[in-house]
Amino acid sequence: MSSIKCDAFKELLKQKGLKITAQRESVLEVLKNHEGNHLTVEEIYEKVKTLSPEIGLATVYRTIQLLSELKLVDKLELNDGFIRYEIGKFDGGKHNHHHLICEICGRVIEAEDDLLDLIEETCRKKYDFKVTNHVVKFYGICNKCSEK
Ligand SMILES: [Zn+2]
Ligand SMILES: [Zn+2]
Ligand SMILES: [Zn+2]
Repeated sequence: MSSIKCDAFKELLKQKGLKITAQRESVLEVLKNHEGNHLTVEEIYEKVKTLSPEIGLATVYRTIQLLSELKLVDKLELNDGFIRYEIGKFDGGKHNHHHLICEICGRVIEAEDDLLDLIEETCRKKYDFKVTNHVVKFYGICNKCSEK
């Protein structure tokens, strides 16, 4: 992510009436630097500590919850008992990718195309239902595992 987007992020925090604290900035920084990774709170905490050594796990946890509620951070559950987080998107909090999860090695591939517009259109036309969001995960076998 570019620094322009990081500024946009800070602008968003300000708009929501939230203070830009060094600790919030550190959490954002870590998520920004690991775009495409899906980190647990513990993993985020380990990385944030190198930027803000005084930060506690509880603070990281609260910060993530807050950012998640504001849709600045996206949540991902892979059914392995962990909740993972990644930096959210700026266009109205609408996600811009989906996850392809390998059932053999657990690799998570990010699919940048959102191919569900057609389904949403069908919901609108056939059921007179306006879809505002969807949650989809694709499970399967990645190319490396299918080679074996
Ligand atoms: Zn992702
Ligand atoms: Zn695999
Ligand atoms: Zn989607």
